Amino acid sequence: MVVLSSPSSKPSTKRIDWQAIAREFAQVVGKEGVVQRKEELLVYECDGLASYRQRPALVVLPRTTEQVSALVKICDRYAVPFIARGAGTGLSGGALPIENSVLIVTARMNQILEVDLANQRVVVQPGVINNWVTQAVSGAGFYYAPDPSSQIICSVGGNVAENSGGVHCLKYGVTTNHVLGLKLVLPDGSMVDVGGKVAEMPGYDLTGLFVGSEGTLGIATEITLKILKTSESIHVLLADFTSVEAAGQAVSDVISAGIIPGGMEMMDNFSINAVENVVATNCYPRDAEAILLIEIDGLAVEVAANSQRVEAICRQNGARSIRWPPIRRSASPSGKAVKPPSLPWAKLALIITCRMA
Ligand SMILES: Cc1cc2nc3c(=O)[nH]c(=O)nc-3n(C[C@H](O)[C@H](O)[C@H](O)COP(=O)(O)OP(=O)(O)OC[C@H]3O[C@@H](n4cnc5c(N)ncnc54)[C@H](O)[C@@H]3O)c2cc1C
Repeated sequence: MVVLSSPSSKPSTKRIDWQAIAREFAQVVGKEGVVQRKEELLVYECDGLASYRQRPALVVLPRTTEQVSALVKICDRYAVPFIARGAGTGLSGGALPIENSVLIVTARMNQILEVDLANQRVVVQPGVINNWVTQAVSGAGFYYAPDPSSQIICSVGGNVAENSGGVHCLKYGVTTNHVLGLKLVLPDGSMVDVGGKVAEMPGYDLTGLFVGSEGTLGIATEITLKILKTSESIHVLLADFTSVEAAGQAVSDVISAGIIPGGMEMMDNFSINAVENVVATNCYPRDAEAILLIEIDGLAVEVAANSQRVEAICRQNGARSIRWPPIRRSASPSGKAVKPPSLPWAKLALIITCRMA
């Protein structure tokens, strides 16, 4: 649960003058940056964990670090709690307001501030959507590795707070492995920089401390990310099995053979049919008890060899059929790279979440 309040502020016993606070907020972000009508506040009463709901007293939409700092100082002065919110896709209630709180929403902090291909760095505001980062650099053959299934809607700020991971985290790590530096607004409104543009800065690893702290330590207002060069070659294998156990054994055997796939996902029969019912990919056999999607990436020669080994391992574990569908992430002949789209079940999850909310 995430609620920030300044260490110096004590919960107020007085009636809170929300009109006065809203006026002060408006001086910082303009009237259009303050949401106070009840029906508009409803949009912000929960995140992806829609079973818990609480309407915030006010929502405020800053555009810059300085504005966030000024807003937090106002909250501090009035001793009202505030909560950061990115895209509100979190599934653990992190962006859930509490009674009489202010939600500081980063949706308008959506600028990619710097792209430094030579050093493989990108600096973003926290409201930038995860897959915008890859879109910004894919033309030059780079991508941003952490890819939660919500990547088409979740914000980088939320990813930082939740230390989000995705399909590719087995090989490439989660968000903390790709964040080098942060500009932060602390609960008293002060601004600090932690980390920087190089990995392993001297001193305490305050960047590592902040990533995954779920909004409890401050608000990230600028984030320096590491981007990766797209692999020379990528193959994706789809194997279907008559039991979940056989598919699971194939996963263990691939790893114990010393192969770390770029991504490896299993779907059971229920998931396969749910995806086919809703997304209708027509590529997953409805009668399979389990399927494995294994992405093998790296140098072309390595991918060719490992693809054969992985296929053999799947067959040894009784795979009924093996297919090599069109690649999801590739370095094209022109050197342009394409980030993989979310897997169908992830799209399904998004559809279900949207319907629930
Ligand atoms: C369909 C679906 C699929 C998902 N798949 C994955 C997955 O594969 N992997 C995964 O890890 N998660 C997944 N999630 C969960 C969620 O998308 C991630 O946790 C994501 O990182 C949240 O980002 P957000 O912008 O929506 O953050 P929000 O939900 O808005 O906020 C999440 C937390 O971050 C804090 N926060 C937000 N912005 C900031 C900031 N700038 N500074 C400090 N704190 C901040 C909030 O206070 C809150 O505690 C999924 C969710 C859905 C709905």
